[in-house]
Amino acid sequence: MHEFFIVQNIIKTVEDIVQQYPGKKITKAVLLIGKFSGVEIDLLKTALDFFKKGSPLENAEIFIEIEDLKLRCLDCGKEFVKDKWDISCPYCGSLNTKVISGEEMLLKSLELEEET
Ligand SMILES: [Zn+2]
Repeated sequence: MHEFFIVQNIIKTVEDIVQQYPGKKITKAVLLIGKFSGVEIDLLKTALDFFKKGSPLENAEIFIEIEDLKLRCLDCGKEFVKDKWDISCPYCGSLNTKVISGEEMLLKSLELEEET
């Protein structure tokens, strides 16, 4: 499943980061998910619950932020946000636009603190 693969990658990334900070533990992790990344949030949460056991994320609070589709018009240079899949520029009507964000899925931030 797509979501399982994503979660495994995230946990791998987190493990790599934690190795650079010995003696610290992760208290909070924020994931950023584009509205059009194709990720099912419910499946993602299920996968997280499953894979975080025994990982550095096991006792961390995990937040999931949903990111809107953001585009830039290559004709008039304006940037705009869409809540549905529509790539036309609302300012000049051009279809010559580029997706800036909203399609990806990434680890946005981690908070670490000294292990007690
Ligand atoms: Zn435009």
